[in-house]
Amino acid sequence: MGSDKSSTSIERRQFDTLIIGAGGGGLRASLQLAEADLNVAVVSKVFPTRSHTVAAQGGMNAALSNVSPDNWHWHMFDTVKGGDYLGDQDAIEYMCRAAPKAVYELEHFGVPFSRLDNGKIYQRAFGGQSQNFGGDQASRTCAAADRTGHAILHSLYQQNIRAKTHFFDEYFAVDLLKDDTGRVLGALVFNIHDGSIVVIEAKTTLLATGGAGQLFKTTTNALINTGDGMGMAMRAGIPLQDMEFFQFHPTGIAGRGMLITEGARGEGGYLVNSDGERLMERYAPKAKDLASRDVVSRAIAIEVREGRGCGPNKDHVMLKLEHLGEDVIQKRLPGIRQTCITFLGIDPAESPIPVFPTAHYTMGGIPTNHYGQVVIPVKDTPEEPVQGLYAAGECACVSVHGGNRLGGNSLLDILVFGRAAANHIISYLKENKYHRGIDDEIIDKIVTKVKRYDGTDNRSADTVETVAMLRAELKQTMESHCSVFRNKEILKEGVDKVEQLVKRMENVRIDDQSFTFNTAKVEAFELENLMACALATIHSAYAREESRGAHSRTDYTERDDKAWMRHSLYSFENGLDYKPVRTKPLSVDSFPPKPRVY
Ligand SMILES: Cc1cc2nc3c(=O)[nH]c(=O)nc-3n(C[C@H](O)[C@H](O)[C@H](O)COP(=O)(O)OP(=O)(O)OC[C@H]3O[C@@H](n4cnc5c(N)ncnc54)[C@H](O)[C@@H]3O)c2cc1C
Repeated sequence: MGSDKSSTSIERRQFDTLIIGAGGGGLRASLQLAEADLNVAVVSKVFPTRSHTVAAQGGMNAALSNVSPDNWHWHMFDTVKGGDYLGDQDAIEYMCRAAPKAVYELEHFGVPFSRLDNGKIYQRAFGGQSQNFGGDQASRTCAAADRTGHAILHSLYQQNIRAKTHFFDEYFAVDLLKDDTGRVLGALVFNIHDGSIVVIEAKTTLLATGGAGQLFKTTTNALINTGDGMGMAMRAGIPLQDMEFFQFHPTGIAGRGMLITEGARGEGGYLVNSDGERLMERYAPKAKDLASRDVVSRAIAIEVREGRGCGPNKDHVMLKLEHLGEDVIQKRLPGIRQTCITFLGIDPAESPIPVFPTAHYTMGGIPTNHYGQVVIPVKDTPEEPVQGLYAAGECACVSVHGGNRLGGNSLLDILVFGRAAANHIISYLKENKYHRGIDDEIIDKIVTKVKRYDGTDNRSADTVETVAMLRAELKQTMESHCSVFRNKEILKEGVDKVEQLVKRMENVRIDDQSFTFNTAKVEAFELENLMACALATIHSAYAREESRGAHSRTDYTERDDKAWMRHSLYSFENGLDYKPVRTKPLSVDSFPPKPRVY
């Protein structure tokens, strides 16, 4: 099984840059670096094209003006407002300005975007998009039917093969290697196939490990989205930012979680309650079904709570698409049509789809600046870069999504900041040319952790816990205590329960004679990471006594800019801390906070 090696006999590899994660964020960065002739390693716990980016359906935002008049400044306004004024406006300006170029680059990499009759890239309407700073609905989301992420990830992977990126497929990154000055020197990784350990020494390391949707019982996320990079960062002493802001997508298939893209409403679909009433007309008279996701999710939860839910248990609402006609559904939404036929036996061209808000996206994450550098508070400064460490994509919090992400802005985020991080790494490496060496003690500490599940302990049988049981309890706890609506009592109970689960983690044992020992070990590492994310999420949510974006408190129903327009930071060492929002954009005036209506 290979993990009983001492640090002197462990295989060591050296690269200029180590990228942990092969989703869109990781692969956009690796491509940029490999094309600059750097020696790049990409580690992924699954084969790269199985990363969650592959599941993205609806598309990616850029102000191309192909369907409605548009410009990046309107896109910036919508993003600041969508995030309920918690997003950092320098990063948002950077992203919205870079968006058209990011789309054209993808087109040149081979992404087969859907087309308009005039040959230009097709753009659909998505939630929270407006013309002229809050005016008419805009159509800003570039799509390849409803399989946009699939097209992007496969194109990026092929480009990386061409550029000779070095892939470590099905290796699990366990922890970062950090020296006593705080500089990050690479990571220790575990070969899932044979259980061996490899030390990857790197002058720079980029975390691109995606979100933590597995925190919740019902989720649109893949099983692999376990917040590993966030857990690694926390164990390296880096706080997680804004973790209380978790997005619930309004239209997961009720009770099952598979996503029905917002593009379905963008194409003209709408929600109805048990009275057949088009409910969003009451909650968002202007934007209706294309209000921001937090607004639509709350509306559905209220309808169900007040007894207007559909089905025998009155526990969901219906998404109607039939009126669009079979041709439009087949051309623009073929993937979701197939999902409904396969998993529900329902053809959306004939019958409505049962939907309910479902855990979807981690707005919080590892704090970075808009160069992708991981930044932490040091003494009196709100942020100083951690030397050698970068983060991009859903695991990072740059923060462009603030308290609530707009649909179509995440694919954009991963590509823009994957590229930006790579560009910063290229210039950093010009000044930092040499490897610094890693002391054996640093490695030994992590090897001990890898070996902790090897069955060498002597705990008595009645204290033994299983990974599967604890994971299920954690997901149920987060779902019951940290969902669409929250209050003090529910959250306090959640805090206590999560802390108990974290304690019980110490008694986890795995059968080391089992044929599946390596994957069982990986599941235990994943659970440790989920526990870290859960602690940060529930503590931050309990402390934030206001309602903003996706964090909605029934006991503090208003946004409180005076007390709470600040980012939360949660670390093992210091618990909760806060830092200011970067309200100053790069070149334009700030958008000051206003009431948020749709
Ligand atoms: C069903 C669904 C549909 C979506 N649709 C859209 C959409 O239409 N538009 C939009 O903008 N956004 C959408 N999103 C959100 C968006 O797809 C994601 O936020 C984004 O793709 C995340 O990309 P990423 O590169 O950060 O991470 P991911 O694509 O999640 O990749 C993470 C990578 O990290 C690796 N990894 C993780 N942990 C480890 C470890 N310990 N060791 C080694 N490797 C590790 C994984 O193997 C994987 O390669 C959707 C999300 C979901 C779930």
